[in-house]
Amino acid sequence: MEELEKRFHKAIIDGCEEAGKLGYRPSQFLQMIGDYGALGAAKKVISKSTVTEGFTKLWRLKRLDLSVEAIVLRSEYKSLFSEEERAMCKKNLLAFGYEMPQEEELNIEDIPIEDIEDELLEKIAKQHSIEKPKLRESTVTQRDRDPYLAEYAKRRAKGICQLCENPAPFMNEKGVPYLESHHIVELSEGGEDSVENTVALCPNCHRKMHIVKDLRDVQKLKKKGSL
Ligand SMILES: [Zn+2]
Ligand SMILES: [Zn+2]
Repeated sequence: MEELEKRFHKAIIDGCEEAGKLGYRPSQFLQMIGDYGALGAAKKVISKSTVTEGFTKLWRLKRLDLSVEAIVLRSEYKSLFSEEERAMCKKNLLAFGYEMPQEEELNIEDIPIEDIEDELLEKIAKQHSIEKPKLRESTVTQRDRDPYLAEYAKRRAKGICQLCENPAPFMNEKGVPYLESHHIVELSEGGEDSVENTVALCPNCHRKMHIVKDLRDVQKLKKKGSL
């Protein structure tokens, strides 16, 4: 299942659970999800010329936002449906007086960083590289480092420490090689939180960079940062 489809699946399941809390358990629909997956089930539901019983139940609960139709219309799922399918959903929702929320742009912050595609991550990281205000680097404010830049540096390193060039010493809980992001010139020393100034190191080399500032190491990392 593709990432987007997975997210759609989760959104639908969340909607069902929320409806369940309000006293309406869409058992038939859940059965369909079991048979066809959330995407398949949603397509079946919205292809019917009349609205489902579930839809009218949600309408009575004043929670049409939980309906399959409303979830389908979320802008992030646009690519999963045809124009006709979306038009059908819109028509039914409008017919029941549902006020469509303004089409929002996909909010990137809602996507876990690890799930962002390489190309998009590169774009964001480079953008943040320019835009981010300077932040101080210290163990306390580490969270203020731009997480997109850190993730980008790690992915760019492809599991290999950029200093010693050995593979990451272990995999994290998600099976991703463990590396740490590091600013070649520390932020407290005027370094930027940018693509060029961020590299990925194994924990040993990371310590080393903070303890012995060997100029040759710094030079080597600078080269890697600007690749
Ligand atoms: Zn290393
Ligand atoms: Zn560091």
